[in-house]
Amino acid sequence: MLSAKTIEIVKSTAPILEMRGKEITTTFYRNLFVKHPELLNIFNHANQEKGRQQTALANTVTAAAHYIDKLEVLLPVVKQIAHKHRSLAIKPEHYPIVGENLLEAIKEVLGEAATDEIIGAWAEAYGAIADVFIAVEKEMYEEVQEAAGGWADYKDFIVMDKVRESENITSIVLKPADGQALPEFKPGQYMTIRMTIPGEQYLMNRQYSLTCSPNREYYRISVKKELLESSPDGKVSNYLHTQLKVGDRLEVTAPAGDFTLNVMESEPVYFIAGGVGITPFMSMLHTLSERNPERKAVLKHAVKNEQVQPFKEEIKQLAQRLSNFEALFYMSDDKRKMTSEDLQGLDPSGIYYVCGPAGFMNFAVSSLRDAGISEDRIHHEFFGPAMQLEESK
Ligand code: FAD
Repeated sequence: MLSAKTIEIVKSTAPILEMRGKEITTTFYRNLFVKHPELLNIFNHANQEKGRQQTALANTVTAAAHYIDKLEVLLPVVKQIAHKHRSLAIKPEHYPIVGENLLEAIKEVLGEAATDEIIGAWAEAYGAIADVFIAVEKEMYEEVQEAAGGWADYKDFIVMDKVRESENITSIVLKPADGQALPEFKPGQYMTIRMTIPGEQYLMNRQYSLTCSPNREYYRISVKKELLESSPDGKVSNYLHTQLKVGDRLEVTAPAGDFTLNVMESEPVYFIAGGVGITPFMSMLHTLSERNPERKAVLKHAVKNEQVQPFKEEIKQLAQRLSNFEALFYMSDDKRKMTSEDLQGLDPSGIYYVCGPAGFMNFAVSSLRDAGISEDRIHHEFFGPAMQLEESK
């Protein structure tokens, strides 16, 4: 239990930390990696370069400070982050290292304004927040370890197949190297894959959504090759596309994530995808086709053009198995871009899943809100560190 004094200090200093949040977290990560370079095996370097990880941490710290006397309010957000931590094999022993360096960064950025009393209060508060994460993650580790076929941390998998789905998306089929049966997963979940890439000093890991239905034999992921003229080529996705071969090994963590669909429920379900954001929906659609093929399902997929549109044939086959299914495609190059009108007049009793690039998600979620879909019916997943959508108007 935190004392009333500690709570008061944390709350009253939270706005300063919020204002200087990005500076503090940037200083924090810089110092952390100098002192603990081994952690570069865990963190996504591109998220650091782009400042996305710093923003995510700053948002988490600010939210935690705000709700320090009722941390239970944050449980849904904590769970989402804890899924990612479990998927990255983050352990309790990482928390004190982060805490120590975060407090040092606060001192470094705020200088004399960070009195011993303030730092003491924040140290206590960090301890309380870390305890919540550690407890939630402990349960998650126990759950995957106890599941039939489950495992904690990483396990070796072998690449069984690579299938080109479009000009820039390739699916990779993986089976466990030990030949054991796999644990069940929930459609919409992702897993982390880890590998050594020639020329890279540290291990690289990335999350990929599963694109098959739950089964005990194999996993399938579908990866977009990240190539942008204005920024460096994506390291892992390019490696997976151009160098990874059938027969190679990858390390994989057990499926995680709470962007999932209970296929047995009956309300209509709408999948709204931008580009590669269709991947979690492929697993959901396959699972629906196997377990509840009469449920109403609508897929709205926005892509640039037909060349980069994945799963064309597969979606046609799904349409034959799903008796109440509609798939609509929008191509921005052909002046058939998805607009907010395409997200109006939809069933308010439906459940909505949105996944795609940040700009697309902001557009789709705000269009749904404007169309009168209530907040609790809209679920979204971002393919990066925890993201805050723009506030509802
Ligand atoms: P990175 O090297 O990580 O680079 C990412 C982007 O940042 C690139 O566009 C790159 O150009 C840019 N960049 C890198 N360095 C800099 C810099 N210094 N300055 C500016 N820009 C820079 N991806 C999929 O393809 N399919 C999926 O199903 C999928 N599911 C996901 C599920 C979840 C829950 C999450 C969190 C992510 C998912 N992703 C998915 C994204 C995936 O994890 C990777 O982020 C993606 O493949 C890019 O990784 P990369 O190593 O190729 O690119």
